[in-house]
Amino acid sequence: MKLDAKAIRYLTSEDFRVLAGVEAGSRNHEVVPTPLIVQLSGLRGGSGVHRSISVLAKTNLIAKVKNAKYDGYRLAYGGLDYLALNAHQKQKCIYSVGNQIGVGKESDIVVVAHSSGSQRILKIHRLGRISFRTVKTNRDYLRHRNTGSWMYMSRLAAMKEFAFMKALRENGFSVPEPIAQNRHTIVMSLIDAFPLRQISKVPRPAELYSELMDIILELARFGLIHGDFNEFNILIKEEEDPDAKGKAPANVDDENDENIRLVPVLIDFPQMVSIDHANAEMYFDRDVNCIKRYFQRKFHFVSDVPGPSFADAKKNLLKNPGKRLDVEVEASGFSRKMARELEAYMKEVGVDGDAGAPRDDEEEDDDSEEEEDGSEEDHSDDGQPEEETGPSDSLDDSSRRLEELRV
Ligand code: ADP
Ligand code: MG
Repeated sequence: MKLDAKAIRYLTSEDFRVLAGVEAGSRNHEVVPTPLIVQLSGLRGGSGVHRSISVLAKTNLIAKVKNAKYDGYRLAYGGLDYLALNAHQKQKCIYSVGNQIGVGKESDIVVVAHSSGSQRILKIHRLGRISFRTVKTNRDYLRHRNTGSWMYMSRLAAMKEFAFMKALRENGFSVPEPIAQNRHTIVMSLIDAFPLRQISKVPRPAELYSELMDIILELARFGLIHGDFNEFNILIKEEEDPDAKGKAPANVDDENDENIRLVPVLIDFPQMVSIDHANAEMYFDRDVNCIKRYFQRKFHFVSDVPGPSFADAKKNLLKNPGKRLDVEVEASGFSRKMARELEAYMKEVGVDGDAGAPRDDEEEDDDSEEEEDGSEEDHSDDGQPEEETGPSDSLDDSSRRLEELRV
């Protein structure tokens, strides 16, 4: 399910009201009966509404469903995308839509632009997509999922990610700037950098390694564990570093990289947990070990200091506590109840973050248990590995191909 924004500029404000009516009706109807759509859209005169319904169905934003009892429509992911885009556009947060630079298992990443021309990232959460990519045991449950649940869960993931990104940013962590959240989407600043995954050579791996471990400990000091801390979710910015002059690079042929400082920027927060979570230690160790394993495999670097352990992190937290961001986020509107609902759903559908993403190089074990299922409705990205288009290639491209929403 790719975002295709082309049709958005042909939709009228009535079309959007009808679309919002279908959305409102889907909260408690799997199939929204046509008379209810008419009522919820709040438009006078049925014929205009029927015209809009037919436009929306032709554009695949809603889909006609013939139910045993009645005919009606169900909101498609595209419909929800358009509602969110329309809201971002009205709030002058997005002016145009560019290329999709990433297809994750649970999200799409699209380059967008503000009217000033500055580029931003739109992240669209798609928790329902896991349904046709996940292991067999989950399928029965998902076949009965209703529109309300994927919409709600994707929105929860966006709310959670936005709340954490905001709290982290305000407390000095190196994360993108969160700009807006609407429904299942968030808009954030674009980081002009590659994921660690795409960096083949690091001049001083020990330095980057210890910086990453410090981030894990610092998060813990603020009451948090990332939960998906790995080479896909750490973007590496290259900055000039006058201080680095004279420091010995690990390899002689790295001399040119001597005065480049690598600055990690952390992304992807829907799996973040509190340090008080029942499985906190497991999540903490998993984050640490992900980096350890990656550095060993990719850069042949093994640290001579053990840990850090969860006990170290707790000790650190007691000695010098940061603001409790887990508590702050809860107070900001992403409640404990929402966190529990999202976690239960993610567990149920087997959301395992990028750690479980299909790997494409031989040095790595492919222990993914994913299977394809030909029987679900959307096959557009079925079983495809996460796209690893480098942001810088695609950014050039996207600036040429920005699609205006409406003028
Ligand atoms: P997912 O939940 O699908 O893993 P991520 O938030 O990790 O989604 O984003 C997937 C990929 O998109 C990242 O690995 C990165 O390459 C790119 N990306 C995401 N956010 C940004 C950003 N703010 N700036 C630049 N690239 C980004
Ligand atoms: Mg990710």
